[in-house]
Amino acid sequence: MGPSQSIKNLNTPRIALIDCNNFYVSCERVFRPDLTHTPIVVLSNNDGCVVSRSAEAKKLGVKMGQPWFQLAPLAQKHHILPLSSNYTLYADMSNRVMKTLSTYSPKQEVYSIDECFLDLSDFAMPLDSYAKMIRQTILQNLGLPVCIGIGSTKTRAKLANFFAKQHPLLEGICDLESIDTQLQAYFFNQTQVNEIWGIGAKITEKLATKGIKTVWQFMQACPNWLRKNFSIILVKTQAELNHISCLGLNDIKANNKQIIASRSFGAPVYTKQALSEAISSYVARAAEKLRQQNSVAKIIYVYIQTNRFNQASYHAPGVFLTLIEPTQDTRLLTLSALQGLEQIYQPGLAYKKAGITLSEITPNTQKQHALFAPKSTFDNSKSQILMQTIDQINQSIGKGSIHLLSEGFDKSWQMQSNQRSPRYTTHLSEVAKAYTDSN
Ligand SMILES: [Mg+2]
Repeated sequence: MGPSQSIKNLNTPRIALIDCNNFYVSCERVFRPDLTHTPIVVLSNNDGCVVSRSAEAKKLGVKMGQPWFQLAPLAQKHHILPLSSNYTLYADMSNRVMKTLSTYSPKQEVYSIDECFLDLSDFAMPLDSYAKMIRQTILQNLGLPVCIGIGSTKTRAKLANFFAKQHPLLEGICDLESIDTQLQAYFFNQTQVNEIWGIGAKITEKLATKGIKTVWQFMQACPNWLRKNFSIILVKTQAELNHISCLGLNDIKANNKQIIASRSFGAPVYTKQALSEAISSYVARAAEKLRQQNSVAKIIYVYIQTNRFNQASYHAPGVFLTLIEPTQDTRLLTLSALQGLEQIYQPGLAYKKAGITLSEITPNTQKQHALFAPKSTFDNSKSQILMQTIDQINQSIGKGSIHLLSEGFDKSWQMQSNQRSPRYTTHLSEVAKAYTDSN
């Protein structure tokens, strides 16, 4: 089942999807090579649920999203190691991966923290060798294993990536357009529709009632029938599987993939009120940056820290919150951030610093709406106008002239001199520090 070595014709679209394997677990292993064969799970905030599993943990039957307390007996029996999530580390590793990958194509779209598309169209070389080189480089430079799927469209690339992950014989790379047609048909027949990008549980269920269960069956379905019974989106998904590109590659290389706003306080801060004000104003700054690059963010990370030089009492909790829909609205981001603070704040401590990080940043134009999201508190078009207006006023009459009440007025917590954010991506000592101390 070796892929063909022929050099493809020019002018044929080729999209690669590169996806890190068990990303959070793999990041942890980079700094703990002794855990290479240990069954590991990474847990969500407050050590609630499993958000990443090592291959060993998967084999033991650990499910994604499973609450940790449910796993206790299994974990004890098989010595499964639970780790708290360390989002700062993952975000930094993600940046390094994406930066490395950006050197392999002029067109890149970062799709999530651990996956990106690269446009390899018109590359006059055997793509399987090229993919092998990419895979080896990421492994060698960053210690992270990745799988690469290649297809004529984004949806095919996604599916190819799934095959690359599923079948060890492919050694992490599947160029769907160069494997032979029999093997392709075999894959399509063996794979359930829910593995197709954009087809969720609800649609899978409905398709099943109409007798469509495999990718192969879905590809053969009548487009008009799909449009009538489902939606135009599903028709596009089918077209994509049949080599007709409906989804372009959005090049967001120039934009920040992560926006950080944080600051040390001038004097120790004790109250939740003061921390709320600080965090609200960091969110406002970050959201303004987000709007400047016309992007939306899906994840906001909030943290507070006591004096890190006082090791005995050092306390640095953080929490990351996923928004129902990606947004650039300061009010929605602030609401989430303050909910996060509510979860991590402990009274009676002297806090030295607080910060937020926005991530999973995508261009506003390709914003994906949650299918079943409750109606947003803030009307989308009105929100944009309001935010634009605030930005314009602040730009013309001075920063922060108009702001949310939650930012406060006297800002006694503000630090006068040091404006520097933590050097997450450039100073390994700070990355490592955050990792060992905050967990
Ligand atoms: Mg992944």
